[in-house]
Amino acid sequence: MLIGSHVGMGGKDKMLGSVKEALSYGANCFMIYTGAPQNTRRSAIETLKVEEAHQLMKDNDLKLENIVIHAPYIMNLANPSPEKREYAVSFLTNEVIRTDKLGATQIVLHPGSHLTQDLYVGLDNIIEGLKKVLNNTKDLRTLIALETMAGKGTECGKTFAELAYIIKGVNSDRITVCFDTCHVNDSGYDLNNLDKVFADFDQIVGKEKITAFHINDSKNPRSAKKDRHQNIGLGHIGFDALKKIIYHQDFLNIPKILETPYVENLEGNMKFPPYKHEILMIKKGKMNDQLLDTITNTEN
Ligand code: FE
Ligand code: FE
Ligand code: ZN
Repeated sequence: MLIGSHVGMGGKDKMLGSVKEALSYGANCFMIYTGAPQNTRRSAIETLKVEEAHQLMKDNDLKLENIVIHAPYIMNLANPSPEKREYAVSFLTNEVIRTDKLGATQIVLHPGSHLTQDLYVGLDNIIEGLKKVLNNTKDLRTLIALETMAGKGTECGKTFAELAYIIKGVNSDRITVCFDTCHVNDSGYDLNNLDKVFADFDQIVGKEKITAFHINDSKNPRSAKKDRHQNIGLGHIGFDALKKIIYHQDFLNIPKILETPYVENLEGNMKFPPYKHEILMIKKGKMNDQLLDTITNTEN
């Protein structure tokens, strides 16, 4: 079973620091942004201590294929403006190349928001953009994993059918899916009826298309279309449903990434990452009150 979290790459150790952080949580996979998720400034690959990072991974039996990269949120392949779409294509092209240079095999992408246009115009823009990115990087095998979205605003990819439409339109085995549990709940699927959700996914998209999971509880009930992540077991999805997904036989070798919010301790308001505790609970297979007592959930 592969479990990890998103980790930073900003410190002086860069990617080496990402690996150290993942190891400190007891993780065997992890996710990084190739730079700040909110902007497009990127430091040169040569400065990111990639070789040292790979060596530390090797020393700890972490596999390169279990690194997940996340593209920034700000580019929108569905944008009504042709100039902005062109910009998104060129930026994503570079991000795919960076993903490969970091030694990773997949990059997670929010498909896009259709904004003022019709949903299907947006979906067609995404298809066209992805085809260009794949063509720009045709010497690479890097996968682009489309994230299941919560349906906030005009987000595309909020239903399995929308993802299937994009995948069919692009028609490349380099397009896969990142299944985000909070988003799937918020978009309206009942994860406490898991067999049905996976059967629907398999029929509409194909379960072999899932190459990454984001494991998050949700602060909101099913269909809320909000996208607010909650710590494992403390939200509307609940520990048991998340555990079933994490330990599902069909997906044991797929990286599962926690993106749950930072928490504060009982005494103060120092925010710290919950991942070590959450990974421990997941490995033990049960909610642990003692661990929970050490963290108090915060609104953020
Ligand atoms: Fe995401
Ligand atoms: Fe996510
Ligand atoms: Zn989210």
